[in-house]
Amino acid sequence: MSSSSVVSSPAVTRVPLWINGQPAPSKSARSGEVMNPATGQVIRTVPFADAADVDAAVKAAAAAFPAWAATPAVRRARILNKFRELVEQHQKELAALISEEHGKVFLDAMGSIQRGIEVVEFAVGAPELLKGAYSEQVGRGVDAHSRLQPLGVCAGITPFNFPVMVPMWMFPMALACGNTFVLKPSEKDPSASVRMAELLKEAGLPDGVLNVVHGDKDAVDAILHHPDIKAVSFVGSTPIAKYIYATAAANGKRVQALGGAKNHAVVMPDADLDFTVDALMGAAYGSAGERCMAISAVVAVGAAGDPLIAKIAAKAKELKIGSGAAEGMDMGPLVTAAHRDRVKGYIDAGAADGATLVVDGRGLKVAGFEQGFFLGPTLFDHVTPEMSIYKDEIFGPVLVVLRANTLEEAIGIVNGNPYGNGTAIFTSSGAAARRYEDEIEVGMVGVNVAIPVPMAFFSFGGWKQSLFGDLHMYGHEGVAFYTRTKAITTRWPGRAAVSAGFYMPTTG
Ligand code: NAD
Repeated sequence: MSSSSVVSSPAVTRVPLWINGQPAPSKSARSGEVMNPATGQVIRTVPFADAADVDAAVKAAAAAFPAWAATPAVRRARILNKFRELVEQHQKELAALISEEHGKVFLDAMGSIQRGIEVVEFAVGAPELLKGAYSEQVGRGVDAHSRLQPLGVCAGITPFNFPVMVPMWMFPMALACGNTFVLKPSEKDPSASVRMAELLKEAGLPDGVLNVVHGDKDAVDAILHHPDIKAVSFVGSTPIAKYIYATAAANGKRVQALGGAKNHAVVMPDADLDFTVDALMGAAYGSAGERCMAISAVVAVGAAGDPLIAKIAAKAKELKIGSGAAEGMDMGPLVTAAHRDRVKGYIDAGAADGATLVVDGRGLKVAGFEQGFFLGPTLFDHVTPEMSIYKDEIFGPVLVVLRANTLEEAIGIVNGNPYGNGTAIFTSSGAAARRYEDEIEVGMVGVNVAIPVPMAFFSFGGWKQSLFGDLHMYGHEGVAFYTRTKAITTRWPGRAAVSAGFYMPTTG
């Protein structure tokens, strides 16, 4: 990590902005603290960019745009391919940075980077992806073709839970399509974004093509109101997603805003129970439940309920919880003390509302990490749809189980929930799986797959309160988001005389 401007050291360092190909100080007087959630210690500070900082980043991106847009797609792809190589070389270093600032276990961080790398691999196909269409002789002597052109300066605003992967859902696609970019990562774990900017520079990305600003609402508002930003991609919680969507659209920007989730797994009585329980453990408690595709609610159908609860409870008690940097851990801490306390508050509320608290994660102490933001896995049974532990996105290691008598009833519960990000059905019946896939109002569905995150050559996005906007992220929908289509109709008048026309042209 010696070449990095984000250096881990016992002394608290400041994470820089990244503007026009170099680390930049902020003009703002406001800043925040970056914590190590396992130790509870402040490890860095981060400037909270103001409108002047954002304007400097947008100016750099706007100045870089004409040359980058004019760079052949194949050359842009080569730079991204080099970046992919560098990310692979530095994957452990990036994973350690994620683990240090976010808290998730190292191998989970490695896996999340891999899913980001896969988007870069897809984006490297830009020369193929950016082909327009061509039709000859749409009229006599008239041909038509279309071009996919970049938008200009695009911005990405990302959440704390995937500090590498979620930015990589956005900027590789935007850059491959010929746009320049301003990234505003989460202020809770900002260092990985700056490290990625450094690797992009090393890969040969021209200065100004990707810029990073840190901060909170002030920085975001400066992005949403900046006249030179053409499109905004957002991933985060639903209330902020709604705000981003409304504000960016009101300012004439293209916008895709992915929100929060309450992802259900429906477990049928004919499911392979041991397989299902193994899948659910990772889906519910992996990354301490801080995943937008985490399974946070199980709907147990008929006789599945009792044995399922018994097996999950037994496994939950065996989970290894500790610092994400330590080897062999299943789960790390939550991201901040405030978030840990919020999740604890939900456990209190669930118990008070009458749900059965089967496994209680409150009061967990991790030896040597007494100041860390840890919370043990928690399991509730007999949860009903009115309880806050069911209605709200908790975003912690809390799994709630509801009971249903039939598949139809289970589908009704899932479709009655306002979120629609991901879901899964566990069954050995093809008919039940097909019915579920058909009727469920959720954007990403797994059949015996607990976390059905689409591969990079599909697209990622939920329905209902989990996405505001029309296009999902990455894949072909990502190309559609980051380009605009120009349709060209061509005639080269030659031998055939063309007379003045006063009527709507048709294909005569
Ligand atoms: P968040 O909504 O608090 O923050 C997301 C981003 O918005 C951050 O960059 C933050 O600085 C900024 N922000 C926060 N408050 C703001 C405000 N008032 N005005 C303007 N900007 C603001 O989300 P988070 O806590 O960082 O991340 C967790 C949330 O993200 C969960 O709800 C999770 O489900 C969601 N998420 C969704 C997906 C998805 O694909 N749908 C993926 C990952 C995370």
